[in-house]
Formats: sequence, structure tokens, C-alpha cells
Amino acid sequence: MTLMRPKILFSLFTGVRGLPGIGPRLGNFLEKLAGPNSIDLCWHFPNGIIDRRFSPKIKEAPSGKVATLIIEVIEHVPPRVKRLPYKVLCGDETGVLTLVFFHAERDYLEKILPSGEKRVVSGKIEFFKDQVQMLHPDHIVELKKANEIQTVEAIYPLTTGLTFKPLIKAIKGTLEILPELNEWQDSAWLNKNAWPSWRKALLQVHNPKEISELLPNAPARERLAYDELLADQLALSIVRLSEKRKVGRSVGPKGTLLQNAISSFPYKLTNSQENALEEILIDMKKPIRMLRMLQGDVGSGKTIVAFLAMLRAVENGTQAALMVPTEILARQHFQTILTPSEKLGVKVAILTGQEKRKSRDRVLQDLKNGAISIVIGTHALFQKDVIFNDLALTVVDEQHRFGVHQRLMLADKGSAADMLVMTATPIPRTLMLCAYSDLDSSRLLEKPKNRKPVETRVVPLSKIDQVIERLKQALKGDAQVFWVCPLIEESELINLAAATSREDDLKQHFPAQVGLIHGQMKSAEKQRVMKSFLERRIKILVSTTVIEVGVDIPHANIMVIEHAERFGLSQIHQLRGRVGRGETSSSCLLLYAPPLTSNSRSRLNILRNSNDGFQIAEEDLKLRGAGELLGTKQSGLPNFKNVDFKSHQGLMLAARDDAKLILERDPKLTGERGKALRVLLYLFEKDSVIQTLRSG
Ligand code: ADP
Ligand code: MG
Repeated sequence: MTLMRPKILFSLFTGVRGLPGIGPRLGNFLEKLAGPNSIDLCWHFPNGIIDRRFSPKIKEAPSGKVATLIIEVIEHVPPRVKRLPYKVLCGDETGVLTLVFFHAERDYLEKILPSGEKRVVSGKIEFFKDQVQMLHPDHIVELKKANEIQTVEAIYPLTTGLTFKPLIKAIKGTLEILPELNEWQDSAWLNKNAWPSWRKALLQVHNPKEISELLPNAPARERLAYDELLADQLALSIVRLSEKRKVGRSVGPKGTLLQNAISSFPYKLTNSQENALEEILIDMKKPIRMLRMLQGDVGSGKTIVAFLAMLRAVENGTQAALMVPTEILARQHFQTILTPSEKLGVKVAILTGQEKRKSRDRVLQDLKNGAISIVIGTHALFQKDVIFNDLALTVVDEQHRFGVHQRLMLADKGSAADMLVMTATPIPRTLMLCAYSDLDSSRLLEKPKNRKPVETRVVPLSKIDQVIERLKQALKGDAQVFWVCPLIEESELINLAAATSREDDLKQHFPAQVGLIHGQMKSAEKQRVMKSFLERRIKILVSTTVIEVGVDIPHANIMVIEHAERFGLSQIHQLRGRVGRGETSSSCLLLYAPPLTSNSRSRLNILRNSNDGFQIAEEDLKLRGAGELLGTKQSGLPNFKNVDFKSHQGLMLAARDDAKLILERDPKLTGERGKALRVLLYLFEKDSVIQTLRSG
């Protein structure tokens, strides 16, 4: 694929290791810091400036400030003992400046600072005793080069082991060979925003003159952010168009299975559920492929909606699959669906990769010959040997945990199978439009009527004794408690250690009432623990975040979250949704370790004051940005380089409309602007999308 990259971009896609003057060690650091190619260095933006334009006389140089001074070298004063500094006395007509060096090499210093000659030095001025000093000047150059350093210097984020000079050299080197690319942005739009060309924008970003130029809303930065957003939106739209173009199949009403199921439920569907179901059924009936996202807070009843949609497939003699991210969840959904399905005479199976060989073989066989109508499973569902007789609907639960690719892979199991993705992480509208613009969306805005709001309290960890007292009271009744331990993303083992020690602790207070569940446990054991919790043989279930997704224990009514300040808002909201499902009133205790930053405090307060997942998600987006909100890694959310979610939301929407318009006018991107846009797509490494353009 890379072979098709236009020649003009070749220089930007040379490996940083191949750059002149960059050895393997440095290459490693650069790769770690910015990325593998020169272009990644271009996207590595400065985060500060040093102003070296200030050029006072020695007498006027203020302590603590960076200054560039013209001085004459008076005398070298080597240290009497090695650990003392080497000093070079310099002066101008107003006073003396002492340059101070530790671990100095005399020969070198005498070469760059010859006695009796004038030099330009730049660095931070410090007063020591009554001396004016400069410790390790950043620059020492000859007079004729004064202009080169008497400027504003960009400061870059670094990584350990890498210093400024080689980084700046590498970036400068790349900027020097920056090609002039044909403009891909609409000229009226550029003018309206007063944005520079792509090349100028990059040069400006890397040569800031004022602090304000470092802000995300500086014109050059906005332009580059918009480029990236447009590339992303174009890519998504192209994929979406090609997906849509794939012929779907019409799965309409047939028989009474679906109706029977609805009337067999002990409750009425909420209005939201009815609306969402209708939207889904309309899509299924259309002869094009459905790509729809069903969003709803935890407990809003998505599973039932999905089940009903699956029954529509079943009544047409086709199959449906429900894919979930964890095994526990697969079992849970299986249990939920099993009873009503059996009543309706629909055959359901489970496939998680944990089954014994023999039963797995049987499931595979029955999927192939069509004896099984609905299958529920994990990633195991998209293995090669899973062959469906006739898969018409794929439902993916908690989709942000699956990448886009996995999602599409499962879709490919059925010929033109409809696809419904469900998520309990409410996604703010802007993000929805951008990150998931390849999906239509239905939202469950209301909860089933019997649901009681969860009372949330924010408590410092130091009051844990009181919390335990409270639990003792509650456990005298028929309370059940989820106790979630701190999340430390990098290490499941540390998570486990924390959970285990909390378990021990709680066992002291509540003998024989505490169970532990975590990600490292064998599945049979997890199930055993879940079962005893479900059957109320244990009252407190300590866990790492494995319970986060979907688990339904109707009588659990207290949720304790330790180190709540470490969780994302939406994540806590999801956890909290685990309680409040039954008859009794329920509560959520957010334990935090003081001191809280003001940001953390506002975040926890949002949770205390709101039970609305969509609102919480909007707030979370404002406070943390999108990557963290959805967890960039799992989200399938593009890992933007130049985009700042807080500042560039408006641009996101514009890019989306722009992309739509572009593809309406020039769907193959063959016009003049289209060609330039192809370069843009390559620039942001959307090579595979260009494949789609060719083949579609
Ligand atoms: P979600 O998947 O959105 O978290 P579920 O589909 O698991 O929610 O539903 C949560 C609980 O609410 C389940 O026990 C389900 O049986 C129940 N439920 C679903 N829809 C309704 C309804 N309309 N009225 C009452 N209870 C409902
Ligand atoms: Mg669910």
C-alpha cells in the first residue's frame, strides 16, 4: 500500500533513524518521542518559548531572566579542585559577567571563549553573592551570528534521554525540506479563518514568537488541526459510503415471534425502547446494510431491544449474533436471553473460547447448519472456524472496547449482515458525529420506570472506618455491596494486589461474607464467585474493574468505589449503574484520597449531582478531553496528533460537513481539489482508504 504514496511525500516518510546526523540511539529516542517518520517530527509541536530577543547591558540584566548579551572574554579561571566550577570572567562597559561551568573541559572552553575576543552569550541571568552569573549558557556564538540566536526559541516536550539540541536539529532538518503541497482546503474557508497554507502553518507552529501562538486556537495550529480532522472525516465518510454501498438485505416482519416476545415480557417497553426498536426494525427492513449505534445509560434496557431485533432476524429464518467484551457478560446475557428464548422455541448458544472442545464443536456445527438461531459470545465469535448458516444481524455490546476492525470483521461473517452496536458510555454529540460518523444512532434517554436514582456521596478514604460501620448496619438488612478497587491502568498485577489486600481487610470485619473477583481469575472461578454473590451467599464483592461492564445483580444496592479520583466520570457512572436495579433504594460511595485537585473535586461533584449519563459525558469531555473519556486505546477513536478536543469541537463539526460536501461533489476525489485531498489522506496515513476509493 505504501508503494502508492505520492512521491512528493517521500521525504516526510523517511524514518527518523535515517535522518542525517541521527545515530541509532538518538533515532530510538526520537521514535519514542514523536513517531517513526520525519512527518511525526513535524507534528511534534512546541509547548513553550524562550525569548532571547532581550539584550541588556550587564548592569541592567535582571536576575532570573533569559538574556542575550554581547561580552568580551576577560579571563579564564579554572577551578583549584575538580568538583568546583570553572569560571570565565567576561565584561562589557557596564560590568562583569561570570560564566560558570561544571565538569568543564578547559581546551573546549578556551576554544569557544578565547580571551580578549567578543562573543554573544545567551542564557539565564543569576545573581550569586554580588556577581552577575550565567550558569552553562545555552548559546555561545561569534558576533556575526548574533542574529541567529537573538530570537524566540521554541521549547519542545522531551523524553528521558533526549536533550533539546538534537531534537531541535532533527525538527529543523525536517522543516527545511518541507515540500510545498497543493492546497486541499477550500480557499474561501481558508480566508475566512485567516489560515496560512499547510507549509507556512507548520513553519509558524515551529517558530512561535509569542506565547499565544502555542495555544490551540492560534491560526496555524487551527489550520493543522483542521487538516487532520478533515482527513479523518473524509476517511470515515469514504469507508461509510463503501459500507453502505454493499448491498444489504431486507429483513422485514414475518410471523409473530417478535410480537409474542414483547407481550410475554412482565413489563412494558419504555418509549425510548419502542422508538429505538422501531428505528432498528426500519433499518433492517431496508435493503441496505444497517450500521446503527444504540446508546443508553447503564440499565436503560438496551439488551432487551437488541434481543427483540435479533428475534426479527430469527423469525425470518436467519441468525443473529451478540458479541460482548467479556466472558462474564456473555454468560449474563446468555442467562437473560435463554429463558424467554426457550419459551419462544428459539435456540440460543454461547461461544466464549472457554467451552470444552466437544461442546464447542457442536455449537460450531449447529451454527453452520442453522440449528442455532442466536449465538452470544466474545471475541471467539470472529475466529475463522466460526461459520454461520445465514447471519443477518450482528449486535456488538459495549462497542468502544472493540476496535473498528474487529467490528467490521464480524460484520463480514454474514453476507451483508446488519450491524447494531450498543454502548453504555454515553458519547457526547460532537464526538458521536465525528468519531462514529460512520454510524446512525438511537438513544435510550429514559430508564425503566421502576428504577430509583442512586444516592451518591463523596467521602475521604480517611473515613473508611465510618464506611465500614455503615456497611455493617446495611448488611443487617439484605444489602449487597460491590467494592471496586483502584484502577491502575498499566498493571493488572498491582490492581490485583490492591484488591486482595482490601479483601483481607474487609474479611476481618465481615467474616465469610466477602468474595473477590478479578481479571486474572480462571473463568470457572469467576463464575463461581459471581454465582455465590447472585445467590446472596456472599454479601460484599470486591473487584477490580471487571464488573464494570453490564453485570446485572438486581439486589446489589451499595457501590463503593475506592480512589474514585482515578476513574473517568463516565466509568464511575457506569459502575454506579450496577446498583439501583432492584426494589430497595441504593447508594454509591466515592472514596477519594485527599488532597483533591480542584479539577478532581469538580468532577466528583458532577457525579454527586447528576444521574444523567449523557450530561456526565458532556462534562467529562469538557474536563478531560476525549481520549481519556473513551480511553483512546480501546475506543476506536482516532488518536489525533494536532487536535485538542476541548478547543476544536467547532472544527470537528465543520470538517464533518466539509467531508460530506466534498464527497457529494467528487466522490472519487479525482478533481483538482480531490487530488490534493488524496495527498492529505496520505499525509495522515489513511492509505487504506485510498484503496477503498479505487476498489469501490
Ligand atoms: P442495559 O443493557 O442497557 O444496561 P438491560 O437491558 O440489562 O440494560 O436492562 C436492565 C434491567 O432492566 C434488566 O433486568 C431488564 O430486564 C430490565 N428492563 C429492561 N427494560 C425494561 C422495561 N421497559 N421495564 C422494566 N424493566 C426493564
Ligand atoms: Mg447491557
